[in-house]
Amino acid sequence: MSRGTCAYMDPSALRYNLQRVRTLAPGARIWAVVKADGYGHGAVQAAQALHQADGFAVATLAEAQTLRDAGINAPILLLEGTLGPLQALDAVRLGCDTVVHQTEQLTCLETMADRLGQQRIWLKVDTGMHRLGISPGQVPDFVKRIQAIRPLQPVNLMTHFASADEPEAPFTSTQIARFNALARALPGVHLCLANSAGVMAWPESHADWVRPGIMLYGASPGFGKTGLELGLKPAMTLTAPVIALRHIQAGERVGYGARWQAERESRIATLAIGYGDGYPRHAPDNTPVWLSGQRVPLVGKVSMDMLTVDVTDVPQVQLGDSAELWGEHLSVDEVASHIGTIGYELLTRVSPRVDKQWPTD
Ligand SMILES: *Cc1c(COP(=O)(O)O)cnc(C)c1O
Repeated sequence: MSRGTCAYMDPSALRYNLQRVRTLAPGARIWAVVKADGYGHGAVQAAQALHQADGFAVATLAEAQTLRDAGINAPILLLEGTLGPLQALDAVRLGCDTVVHQTEQLTCLETMADRLGQQRIWLKVDTGMHRLGISPGQVPDFVKRIQAIRPLQPVNLMTHFASADEPEAPFTSTQIARFNALARALPGVHLCLANSAGVMAWPESHADWVRPGIMLYGASPGFGKTGLELGLKPAMTLTAPVIALRHIQAGERVGYGARWQAERESRIATLAIGYGDGYPRHAPDNTPVWLSGQRVPLVGKVSMDMLTVDVTDVPQVQLGDSAELWGEHLSVDEVASHIGTIGYELLTRVSPRVDKQWPTD
């Protein structure tokens, strides 16, 4: 009983983008990041489409559980590790690699060292982002303690970039240099640094493992470019039908707060999608929508279930026509820049009311 508001997913786009990662970082293994329900696409289906990745990275235990429940038995990395002994045991039960980014996590693992099984530990170092991670000076002590409970495994070291999407800014080089200084003292260590922006712009950060997320879904990690301009294929196309059409006189206004005023006699199309579906309420007038083979401007405030576009210059538009909010023809990154956000946020905000469709084959 779909109202026709659908997000169509393209598994071949995910496979294509994964291949882009392989080409850019040929020597690295790939943690495909599928947190936040696969950046809004559906974590299980995304992971299935990305089965050629070397493992999947998630933010929460519930996300790991969802993958395991679907029969996915590839390695899973818990990007933030766990909080407290109950979560730590769940991570072991789910067969997840875990991140240690602070003392409490390591102390906890030490108390349950006999129960860790095959679990790998990834030691996260704060090289300057100051969100998660131990400071570089703590690394030798942490490594010693990890080797004591994981004697048969290599040391796994990771860090996260704050601004890898700004190739001109020197800060990423500083982070890489701080990280490499630590790694040099640890022979045989396995290293993991790069997010999507690192994969695309910082080959010296590729190391042993990379952790791309957004680029797998075909959206841009930054650089002032769209995913398309960066050679990626969008995995989600978000569509909504035209459910009403009307003519209004010049001077009339549209929508809540009467924000938009027609300068000429205008034809307005109402689409069945609104902020209750995840399309941002603060989208301004003139945010582009793709309809009938061209861009049309959003006019008036987005409401919960609907939004309105000006189709005065597109006379062929009819009731039931399908508009694209972003996807194949209109980059989510272009839409995001009009709205003052990033593709990441638009993709992850698509709400459960939207019918998420994956091809069945
Ligand atoms: C989300 C996340 C990534 C992926 O970042 P993208 O910019 O989407 O490629 C990588 N590493 C960590 C620690 C993350 O939290």
